Amino acid sequence: MPDSLAQLDKKYVWHPFTQMREWLRREPIVIAEGRGSILRDTRGREYLDANASIWTNLHGHRHPAINKAIQGQLGKVAHSSALGFANEPASLLAENLARLANPTTSAQRGSAARSPKLQKVFFSDDGSTAMEVALKLAYEYARRSGLSPRPRFLSLEGAYHGDTVGAVSLGHIDLFHKAYSGLLFKSDKVPAPYCYRCKFNKARPERADAREYRDCKSECLGLLERAFEKRRRLGLNYAGFVFEPLMQGAAGMLAQPPGYLNKSASIARGYGAQLIADEVMTGFGRTGISSESTRDPVPGVFACQQEKVQPDFLAVAKGLTGGYVPMAATLTTQPVFNAFLGEYEDFKTFFHGHSFTGNQVGAAAALASLKILESKECTRARQSIQDTLSAELSRLWELHAVGDIRQVGLMAGVELVSDWNTRAPFPLEQRMGIRVCDAMARRGVLTRPIGSVIVVMPPYCTTPAQVRKMIRALAESVEEVCGKHAARKAIARSVSGQK
Ligand code: PMP
Repeated sequence: MPDSLAQLDKKYVWHPFTQMREWLRREPIVIAEGRGSILRDTRGREYLDANASIWTNLHGHRHPAINKAIQGQLGKVAHSSALGFANEPASLLAENLARLANPTTSAQRGSAARSPKLQKVFFSDDGSTAMEVALKLAYEYARRSGLSPRPRFLSLEGAYHGDTVGAVSLGHIDLFHKAYSGLLFKSDKVPAPYCYRCKFNKARPERADAREYRDCKSECLGLLERAFEKRRRLGLNYAGFVFEPLMQGAAGMLAQPPGYLNKSASIARGYGAQLIADEVMTGFGRTGISSESTRDPVPGVFACQQEKVQPDFLAVAKGLTGGYVPMAATLTTQPVFNAFLGEYEDFKTFFHGHSFTGNQVGAAAALASLKILESKECTRARQSIQDTLSAELSRLWELHAVGDIRQVGLMAGVELVSDWNTRAPFPLEQRMGIRVCDAMARRGVLTRPIGSVIVVMPPYCTTPAQVRKMIRALAESVEEVCGKHAARKAIARSVSGQK
């Protein structure tokens, strides 16, 4: 019997990033509840939440401390406007975010001292609005400070910073963005460090992360410098360099080689550009614990800290509330804040704000989530997931259809190809990513692909056994969809041919 809720959904709901004709042909999974890393549907079937509910959930579903914080806040007030009034949880949250965003370990103090501190917090609702705020502030700051009379922004190929029109203007995914080009303002792009498919990488494919065996001269950095130089020769400077640090998510889980973040940020700074870090996906511990970050009080809270980059704008959302309530924040510096100070009649005010800015329920959830994130147990759990993920992912190299595996901390993208020897991609029309994720769902593991890239991003409460189950489901599904025997035979052939 078809689920009546599924029928209602099909009748009325329009799903994001979804071909609805395809959706209407199928019986959707209707999620009814969750606990920890597990989601349960209306038929009582259980699934592991292997992409943390589109990269939002940090500590698992129905965490008692976050639930309690939300319930406690509901006992006081759910929402009052930040347009005109302050409130307790938002003030406390701003203080906590500023503390976490400004590293204090001795190793980091040196570089941080030279860079502006992120000490002003502008709240909004989601990743797109956090980026809109960063963009508008950076634009106006560039004009007011004389950095650039006609501010223009530089971002990376494949960039995705959200779906509102300003955020889309910074993005460079034609499939999503081209149709709206008439609505957008112009921004420039430079090649992203996508080692696996980089035209400058001369290395033959190997059974390893392409960052490890790449053979190049870091041309991506040279091209970045050229872009800045070209603009300077026109007598103009870029107002800002916009980037996702360490890993570009929607671009296809593109992991940057070590040092790229630091060097690209130094180049941008050298040309006077503001650094706009989009940590909507990478923030709050996703990028894991590096050997350098182990000495930090809370290792790897933000990706930028892992390469000692202190941006001028830091946009966070998704995991801010532990993934419970929509809320976002844009952190920036005192100089940017000062550029908007004046008497009322100077009209230098930042005329921007959303109805739910500084929402109390969201802020209460975020405070509880940060408290868990800062606990020693959470750091230990993150380390354990990171290690288990790494060990399990390495088994996938025996699959012919696996071309590249890119892990950064507690996130990974597995790029499927029709032939790993040639890196030949699957045509998008074959929907390989979708088919593999469907097969994973039949095995009780939920995630969502980006083209032919399968994303694995477990909540931090996931046990090693659950991580193993996620990767086993992924391996079996790739074999089922892409062909088992062809896969193994081709591997044996090419490995022996290489020797
Ligand atoms: N920036 C990045 C890096 C993202 O991954 C996303 C969402 N996937 C966004 C911005 C937009 O966030 P939201 O969907 O919350 O608007």
